[in-house]
Amino acid sequence: MSKPPIVAVTGGKGGVGKTTVAVGLALAFVRRGLSVLLVDADVDNPNCHELLGVSVEKLADVTSFLPAIDESRCTGCGICVGICPDFALLIKPGEAPKVVESRCSGCMACSFACQVGAIIRSTKVLGELFTAARYNLRLIGGKLKPGEARSPLVVDALLKRAMAERGDYDVLVIDSAPGLGNAVVRALRVADLAVVVTKPTPLG
Ligand code: SF4
Ligand code: SF4
Repeated sequence: MSKPPIVAVTGGKGGVGKTTVAVGLALAFVRRGLSVLLVDADVDNPNCHELLGVSVEKLADVTSFLPAIDESRCTGCGICVGICPDFALLIKPGEAPKVVESRCSGCMACSFACQVGAIIRSTKVLGELFTAARYNLRLIGGKLKPGEARSPLVVDALLKRAMAERGDYDVLVIDSAPGLGNAVVRALRVADLAVVVTKPTPLG
């Protein structure tokens, strides 16, 4: 059996009507008797549920690696501090490093660099996945936590979930973020067809 098609709706910038088109397209498919999974991948500002007039329920947290320092093992060598690309580790002479959580991108370089196993795994919450249902349509979406910058990781978690459920639906509609950033490219990569919503302006 062939896989259900995936339609991604995107646009060069916000405010062009991308979400309106995505929700309208999903509802048009429902009116034709299809079961639809609408995927709200505009994780900085997800609002498909508002257009549908439904309340969402949380599905799961989206987390990433965060280092924790085992001070009983740490020698204070500073290697992890020097290798951190985000300046997320601070150290005073003779002390174990301190982790600045808001700067850490979760790259794990510090944990590979530490030779004495003093960096242990902790996690930080980047955002969450949510769901809602209406008619013959199910909505799943992602929401980036305020202050976090790594929206592509929330999109990855969301698309992984959507792909796992793909076989239960006739068609998937993805409302992607606007622009051409990593989060948008991820949504377009899994799509069979892209609908690009524009306005007749130079930046449209
Ligand atoms: S590399 Fe390991 S031992 Fe060295 S300062 Fe960092 S945590 Fe401590
Ligand atoms: S995980 Fe990466 S960004 Fe975070 S503290 Fe370690 S090296 Fe720095």
